[in-house]
Amino acid sequence: RELPGDPRTDIIPREVLHACYTKVSPSAEVENPQLVSWSEWVAELLDLDPKEFERSDFAQIFSSASPLVGGVPYAQCYGGHQFGMWAGQLGDGRAITLGEILNSKSERWELQLKGAGKTPYSRFADGLAVLRSSVREFLCSEAMHFLGIPTTRALCLVTTGKYVTRDMFYDGNPKEEPGAIVCRVAQSFLRFGSFQIHASRGKEDLEIVCTLSDYTIRHHYPHLENMSKSESVSFSTGEEDNEVVDLTSNKYAAWAVEVSERTASLIARWQGVGFTHGVLNTDNMSVLGLTIDYGPFGFLDAFDPSYTPNTTDLPGRRYCFANQPDIGLWNIAQFATTLSAAKLITDKEANYVMERYGTKFMDDYQAIMTQKLGLPKYNKQLISKLLNNMAVDKVDYTNFFRLLANIKADLTVPEDELLIPLKAALLDIGKERKEAWTSWVKSYIEELSASGNSDEQRKASMNSVNPKYILRNYLCQSAIDAAEMGDFEEIRRLLKVMEHPFDEQPGMEKYARLPPAWAYRPGVCMLSCSS
Ligand code: AMP
Ligand code: MG
Ligand code: MG
Repeated sequence: RELPGDPRTDIIPREVLHACYTKVSPSAEVENPQLVSWSEWVAELLDLDPKEFERSDFAQIFSSASPLVGGVPYAQCYGGHQFGMWAGQLGDGRAITLGEILNSKSERWELQLKGAGKTPYSRFADGLAVLRSSVREFLCSEAMHFLGIPTTRALCLVTTGKYVTRDMFYDGNPKEEPGAIVCRVAQSFLRFGSFQIHASRGKEDLEIVCTLSDYTIRHHYPHLENMSKSESVSFSTGEEDNEVVDLTSNKYAAWAVEVSERTASLIARWQGVGFTHGVLNTDNMSVLGLTIDYGPFGFLDAFDPSYTPNTTDLPGRRYCFANQPDIGLWNIAQFATTLSAAKLITDKEANYVMERYGTKFMDDYQAIMTQKLGLPKYNKQLISKLLNNMAVDKVDYTNFFRLLANIKADLTVPEDELLIPLKAALLDIGKERKEAWTSWVKSYIEELSASGNSDEQRKASMNSVNPKYILRNYLCQSAIDAAEMGDFEEIRRLLKVMEHPFDEQPGMEKYARLPPAWAYRPGVCMLSCSS
């Protein structure tokens, strides 16, 4: 249902009832906007000729100074659980959808401007975004895609030419920062919170949960809509009576299971590359299983299960690296509860949705870790010993796995030479720790030699899953520092490097280096929620 009202003035913060969105025009102030960087790959998805980036009005359109002809801009209504507490209506306070493009492959892509001004959902905030956080969102969206991880994408990044006031450290010393806008792109930006908000508003709005679920299945899970009895999937609930539930008798249950599995699979991949999202509130959980909303995220440098890049999440560390798999389940439980409240799935089906999360996560995580180590089969003890060693010695998560690929499956290597291939990752360890590592490498080689794969084969396979280049926070920060001085080249270079994370890139080795000392200052390795 659409709301009446003038889209240009209808941005007064308020509760928007009985609606999934509000028509609203971008209203960020803009003065001489500049195109900072762009993704040719996303342009290709949209059938956009790369020449378009050279158009003089390109930055005008993607900074919202000129309207996108044919667009019907709107802001989505959603709520969410923030840090475990129901927070009511939250968004979208600063992302405005320009419209959808149907490409030549009949794929539907939605374009959103993030930071394009206030909407009715802006609450107390300004609807704007700063260059610092926009560079991070732009680069990481693309970096994640090239790591093979489902994510929203980013077409381009523009500066607005206007300044935005932010109190970065909440220390009462606000400063002016350049404003910027990212055009992000996804098949859908619907989140768990898009469904939760309506269920939270009582019986009358449960119907909206059904309508929105139908919409989502029709457009984004069409194979479930057409599911016929012959493809019937049955499952046992695992209860004593061993009751079998037929998923095809309820497309909503089949859908919820798929959302659950996609979420589990997504988080398993995050764990594989050492990505910490930072704000896993239910409004940041995509119903398509995409990584969505790049705020205070961080990739692990030294392995640390309690790594928490978001300062707002201290000291609780709800969203620390090691908690992400459990939080994914907690969020799926909220999603399943929403569908149960709308009577789309039964309690039994809701339980099954959660059960499948656990199974899928373990299957995928074990497969990923097995591949990362190049093992012939999953070996729980070997992997947990390794992670434990890495945590104790604060070993770089990314560089370690690249070095590990150089180990030879040769049982005759003398004990005091076993650590040579790993030397660069184990620089500062003492004698006692050397013993722990030597003993681990020994068991590792024993396991490898059982596989029958050649060292070369294993190395190629490991290097295809263990990236050499990841978007370390300090790399982002260097690009931000240069951009704030008006130099956008580093952002463009970094994007190019991150487009081939698994390749050796001669001349680009500096992008695989460990963080320098300055990277540990606040604001580089630790960030706050919304900026
Ligand atoms: P986040 O913690 O980034 O997921 O943000 C929670 C909600 O706050 C989102 O739905 C945003 O729409 C909204 N929000 C964040 N920053 C701003 C801002 N500067 N102006 C308006 N709304 C914002
Ligand atoms: Mg968000
Ligand atoms: Mg955010």
